[in-house]
Amino acid sequence: MIVQELHHIQERLGYLPEGELRALAERTRTPLYRLQEVSSFFPHFRRQPPPEVEVKVCRDMACHRRGSCEMLEQLKSTYKDESPERLSIDGVSCLGRCDRAPAVCIDSGAESRNYVQRSVDELREIVRETLDGRPPPHDVDASYPRQSSEPWKIDVYANDSSLEPYSAVRRFIASGQDDKQRDAERDRIVKSLETAGLLGMGGAGGRAYKKWQDVLTATGDVKYVVCNADESEPGTFKDRELLLRAPHLVLEGVILAGLFLNAQRGYIYIRHEYPEQIQAVREAIRQAEAQRVCGDDILGSGVDFPVEVFVSPGGYICGEQTALIEAIEDKRAEPRNRPPELQTNGLWDKPTLLNNVETLAWVPAIVLKEDGKWFADEGRNKYLGRRFFSISGDVAKPGVYEVPIGITVGELIHDFAGGMREEQTLKAIALSGPSGGFWPVQVPVEHLGREFVKTLPLGSTHFDIQNMEMDIALARKMKVMMGAGIVVFGDGADMVGAALACLKFFRNESCGKCVPCRIGSQKLVEIATDLHERRLDQAALYGRNGSSGKQQLVDILAETMELTAICGLGTVAPNPLSSLLTHFQDDVRPYLKTTGSPT
Ligand code: SF4
Repeated sequence: MIVQELHHIQERLGYLPEGELRALAERTRTPLYRLQEVSSFFPHFRRQPPPEVEVKVCRDMACHRRGSCEMLEQLKSTYKDESPERLSIDGVSCLGRCDRAPAVCIDSGAESRNYVQRSVDELREIVRETLDGRPPPHDVDASYPRQSSEPWKIDVYANDSSLEPYSAVRRFIASGQDDKQRDAERDRIVKSLETAGLLGMGGAGGRAYKKWQDVLTATGDVKYVVCNADESEPGTFKDRELLLRAPHLVLEGVILAGLFLNAQRGYIYIRHEYPEQIQAVREAIRQAEAQRVCGDDILGSGVDFPVEVFVSPGGYICGEQTALIEAIEDKRAEPRNRPPELQTNGLWDKPTLLNNVETLAWVPAIVLKEDGKWFADEGRNKYLGRRFFSISGDVAKPGVYEVPIGITVGELIHDFAGGMREEQTLKAIALSGPSGGFWPVQVPVEHLGREFVKTLPLGSTHFDIQNMEMDIALARKMKVMMGAGIVVFGDGADMVGAALACLKFFRNESCGKCVPCRIGSQKLVEIATDLHERRLDQAALYGRNGSSGKQQLVDILAETMELTAICGLGTVAPNPLSSLLTHFQDDVRPYLKTTGSPT
């Protein structure tokens, strides 16, 4: 495992010295160029010695909204005289603590420390103390209680004390020794997932039972299970909470999938910025092995199914399912062309079940209770089931909430997240981190799917986005992208600055494999920077007298990237700018250069 070996070297020495790479190449009989190829791709790996202290300030959505970019500049200015060997201060992509923005990570030696919700003065002091070798205690995720005290229905063991942990695994093993008996249990599991209506929670929203069935029927004796816990979309941090507070459920989902598929091994792929979660899942694996429900000879059945944590070497692109598989295979995490799909040609080209953390964590509760029917009944109105949302930005109680599918956006904001903070009024909502762009409160109906508009009262010109029922199929019908990370903007928000921050995120995180994405994402940043720095006038932005402006160029880039991108990043990257120019012209206007003003 090259990637994990590189992690170990870097943990020990702080970087990857040439000599260590040569020794690793020899030890693993891997050509040196392969190690160079992998180590140069991932942002986490460094080839030069690090400074004594490295300060990384998150500059994405919720942190940006809380002034992290100004904070970054102020810290840089305070410490401008420190030598680069001693201190570096830079911006980084989302650290996954959007509910406690702004978030800052400070590395000193082998230790990484997260600080959240600190003022710039506090951070100045923390940096000083760290430089002096007296780092103050840092903020751990476990010390923050959940925003809601409602028990999670996903935690079947907390809700039903008659069940012992890993009951779904025990039930599978107890179903019998011969193939016929096990196949009957497999049928029951598939039926339960189908009745429940459980969807993949990683974004695509496919039927979970279908994916399990596809891998089961795929040809091949060697199969794998992979849990995607590489949650890196700005505004999304629900998996962080599940991994920390219910790692046993995620693990049980993986083990049950492994037994169901008669698979060889399971991987839980976790981003390296989640050290507590990595530790929690490793501890859960240790305990499960001690109870003999994981690893060798599960419950004396003769069936082996080991599970291990794979620590991500970093990069948003690793959350893309095929890129993640490439990373586990010790390659650069560049997305694959599809088809073939992972269900038939996944890890090491073998049939692979890849599910999101939440999808797998729901499985024990679904298969243990009423064969999934209770889960379906949990949905609001005609919708099925429950799910987790993370909500951040200008709300009073940012956090992670388990809710019935079909509640409205307004209910999530006002009833769960406590409404707007500091008496702001709602201006904009991002319903899928930066990927879906920004929506105004009143959306003109011409920007919504025709099928959905037909369901509105005759003559409707606008739709209040707060009335949108949160269901992935409905969102598709509306032509609205809806993920698990909702970011809310109040009337004080600078939407031009917010859009620019999102565009920089995509530009920085593009893997560069597709030329239109690599060049287009940079071009979008340039246009938004020109706007932000007041270098465009009305005609330059919107065009005049038949000549096209930058908005038309944005449309062309969006169309080209959508047609040519291998993965979702390239197709969604223009959305922050497109939605800004379409829906927030009042916010754009003050940024336009007036005739005669200096460039
Ligand atoms: Fe990489 Fe962008 Fe192509 Fe995706 S669309 S594979 S991020 S270059």
